[in-house]
Amino acid sequence: MTIESKNIIIIGASYAGILALKSILNKTNQYEQIKLNIIVITPNDKAFYNVATPRLLIEYEKIDNVLFSIKETVDNIAAKYSNHSVNFIQGTVKSVDLENHEVVIQSKYKYDNLIIASGSRSIMPCWKLDNEKDQSLTINSIKHLSQQIKNSKSIAIIGGGTTGVETSGELASNYSDKKITLYSGSKIVLQSIPCLSSKAEDQLKKLGVEIINNKQVEVDGNKVKYDDIVQEYDLVIQAQKLIPNSEFLPNQVLENGYVKTDEFFRLHSFPEVICLGDILSIGSHSLVDLLYNQKNVFDKVISYEIFKDESILFQGYKQSTRATMVVPIGKNGGVGVVFGIPIPSFLVYWIKSRDYMISKARDNLT
Ligand SMILES: Cc1cc2nc3c(=O)[nH]c(=O)nc-3n(C[C@H](O)[C@H](O)[C@H](O)COP(=O)(O)OP(=O)(O)OC[C@H]3O[C@@H](n4cnc5c(N)ncnc54)[C@H](O)[C@@H]3O)c2cc1C
Repeated sequence: MTIESKNIIIIGASYAGILALKSILNKTNQYEQIKLNIIVITPNDKAFYNVATPRLLIEYEKIDNVLFSIKETVDNIAAKYSNHSVNFIQGTVKSVDLENHEVVIQSKYKYDNLIIASGSRSIMPCWKLDNEKDQSLTINSIKHLSQQIKNSKSIAIIGGGTTGVETSGELASNYSDKKITLYSGSKIVLQSIPCLSSKAEDQLKKLGVEIINNKQVEVDGNKVKYDDIVQEYDLVIQAQKLIPNSEFLPNQVLENGYVKTDEFFRLHSFPEVICLGDILSIGSHSLVDLLYNQKNVFDKVISYEIFKDESILFQGYKQSTRATMVVPIGKNGGVGVVFGIPIPSFLVYWIKSRDYMISKARDNLT
């Protein structure tokens, strides 16, 4: 049997990057004719379970339970596949030359296949990891914010998506003496899952959260401005916007900053480049989507593109029409829908709000 050697580069080592590494190596049991040299590149040396951030803002002491050494993870995974080489480089990819199959950090690295799992970052670094700085930026931001929250009497939260709603619920249920105002920026909170909106608003109001809908606000330090009104708070928390980590790619492969791919996650004209996770423009930017909808498509496309298995029957990615979203509102419950079916508050408690799934963090990131 002739052994072929292939260089694979994975950009990003969060949920999607680690999943990509495990999926690719797992395939090598089936395709023994290929020896892989894999390099995983990311600016942080610890992976961070950002799902728990709203809880960490009131229980910062749990931070060590949501950080995992990437080197250790990569070494542990690689140890199971000793015929292949896997290396971790802590750094930021500055550019990719798609024509010449090269990734530039400080030096240039050649690839046969490139996996882009570089996700997105947030305006306030507490919600997600950065594209250049390591995890201490995010950790320090959470620490600082949790202290500021303790010292503030009036807090505005900008953004009525899951992050804003969850954070409003956490703060209001933990600190009954603080005035919490949520600016949703839309007609209703949780507008992507409208069947949950009115229940979520009711639960937030019961906790004393003031909800201001239908206002596009501007934030200026501790001031929130809309129409001709300027409201001042002790603290303003921005939870409204994510920025795709795609600056290293040419504009023509991007759509609103996210990567344009075919339905099998391959870059148009460059099928050896496969994307996964939040960086996909066709994805729904959630862990649930990654695990339940994207993973199966990725498994097949890597069999075809990396291991050249032409017998693979492709099935393209489709966003699920049966949403799954579990949104804690405080420690005792919240609102949720699982595969399109609404679930009661006590189930939200069991699934997520009791510990923000911190007990599951390791499964997702190692
Ligand atoms: C507060 C919050 C709570 C959430 N809760 C849930 C939830 O309960 N359920 C759910 O389904 N989803 C949830 N999500 C969404 C979830 O966080 C994302 O779907 C997930 O992070 C996507 O993973 P990813 O690996 O694609 O990208 P990311 O997690 O964004 O990771 C990208 C990685 O790539 C690295 N990177 C970026 N640029 C470069 C570069 N140039 N070179 C090298 N590396 C780079 C980054 O540093 C990072 O390590 C939540 C999101 C937020 C903000």
